[in-house]
Amino acid sequence: MNQQSAINNTKAQGFPQRLRAVLFDMDGVLYNSMPYHAKAWHRAMAQFGYDLPEDEVYMHEGRTGASTVNLVSMRQRGVEESEERIQEIYQVKSEFFNEYPPADPMPGALELLQQLKAQGLKILIVTGSGQRSLLDKLNHHFPDIFRRELMVTAFDVKYGKPNPEPYLMGMQKGELTPEECIVVENAPLGVRAAKAAGIFTIAVNTGPLPNDALLDEGADVLFPSMQALSDAWGEFYNTYNK
Ligand code: MG
Repeated sequence: MNQQSAINNTKAQGFPQRLRAVLFDMDGVLYNSMPYHAKAWHRAMAQFGYDLPEDEVYMHEGRTGASTVNLVSMRQRGVEESEERIQEIYQVKSEFFNEYPPADPMPGALELLQQLKAQGLKILIVTGSGQRSLLDKLNHHFPDIFRRELMVTAFDVKYGKPNPEPYLMGMQKGELTPEECIVVENAPLGVRAAKAAGIFTIAVNTGPLPNDALLDEGADVLFPSMQALSDAWGEFYNTYNK
């Protein structure tokens, strides 16, 4: 899909008339970290006798670790895993993940963030990530963009995506209504969460899933990459933010 068709094929009439903020997911949107998460999940689950193909990990992106383990456990054994074993599997997954080099920022992400900042828009992070020192990392790659009080992380939420909770909390922190913000998401369950929160959602398909995996969850617009979104943003904003 080229950028032009991405714009023309939209339901973009739902784009906020008074856009004040953009809520960003992190993994697979700002950082190209999903390939490492997928490999780490596949290896960790295999170690405990579970089959979770790498590509399937992208379908579950956004779920808590426990939810991911139990989905596969139910499928394979018909019962959920014990709390203890779930923690063990998640620990192994984290260790595998940490063996990989730090994920690179997604091409186009910094350019897009700088455009939004220059337009005076608020920029928020809504992530299921529970990494410590997340703000330091973000500030290193995206200087002067993010603020601690405008971040929702694993430490803030109870349910996580696909529950709308993280995005509702993001709007609360940013003092926003759904009519004043948009979301940028790469994961089907992230799109589901954002739409359940009533927010216009731009999907960026940065992984191996078919576009329909994102569109079927209700994504309002789809771009093939963050670079494509960044390149098209000026025209997109001027066209729809009337
Ligand atoms: Mg993501």
